[in-house]
Amino acid sequence: MRLYINDVAVRDGFQMEKTFVPTATKVSLVDQLSRTGLARIEVTSFVSPKAVPALADANEVLAAIERAPGVTYVALVPNPRGVENAAAAPRRPDELNGVMSASETHNRANINRTHAQSLAEVPAMVRAAHEAGMKLTMSLSTTFGCPFEGRVDEGAVLRFVEAFLEAGVDGISLADTTGMANPRQVRELVARVLARFPARDDAFYTLHFHNTRGMGLANVLAGIEAGVRSFDGSIGGLGGCPFAPGATGNICTEDMVNMLEDMGYETGVDLAKLLACARRVPAIVGHDTPGQVAKAGPSLALHPIPASLKEPTR
Ligand code: ZN
Repeated sequence: MRLYINDVAVRDGFQMEKTFVPTATKVSLVDQLSRTGLARIEVTSFVSPKAVPALADANEVLAAIERAPGVTYVALVPNPRGVENAAAAPRRPDELNGVMSASETHNRANINRTHAQSLAEVPAMVRAAHEAGMKLTMSLSTTFGCPFEGRVDEGAVLRFVEAFLEAGVDGISLADTTGMANPRQVRELVARVLARFPARDDAFYTLHFHNTRGMGLANVLAGIEAGVRSFDGSIGGLGGCPFAPGATGNICTEDMVNMLEDMGYETGVDLAKLLACARRVPAIVGHDTPGQVAKAGPSLALHPIPASLKEPTR
């Protein structure tokens, strides 16, 4: 089974870092990621540079990266102004990712809008993106739980998906923004969404999990069982949550690829090349990262047989 793996570290990860990652470093990391077989790379965000100084160099990054055929380069846009700025960029991304939250409180905290305000903006965002030759996908944050409201009503999730489809989006990402999802919930909710609104193609629906409570990779498997084929991760497991200081970040892309390849799924990703990218991350951000396979090595990286076993011991 073919799966599609997307990396969001340069956007979702770096925006949480206290130190500014130099533009040239972002560009060289994106260029290296472009050669690993990833389907999508989220490279930056068109947000207010005052709100997110870490990504103030969106135009420079997009202009400097070398685009590999077959890779989709994505930028996050929180609102119509973000779409305008992306359209005006000297080199546009291929795809924009709009965001709103399934919970009203999180939506107000994250993008300062009510649900009604956010939903009203989506059709115009889609049109503006399409006119500028870009795709627009929507991410539904807090799909599986909100840090302020708890569980989110499943009927509300279905209504948002329907509204996004009516607005003509090119894809939908269901995001577990603060790592509250569990595998059973993922299997049931995602199966409900897909039964009601079937995927237009294999990569139409994406699942975006955080490993905040250690259930990230289990949730990926539950998502596959429910029929999803496209998954976000971040190298090193970079990222976090602005509302929960100390919470761990996105699921780790290389840990996910190691698991899926070992299980016989086709990710299209060269794990050795991805590990080389991931191993650069601690030096870039100046601290250790939660990813495990970068430390332990792939499951089948065998160790030398202990010398004592090479000759029969007496
Ligand atoms: Zn995230």
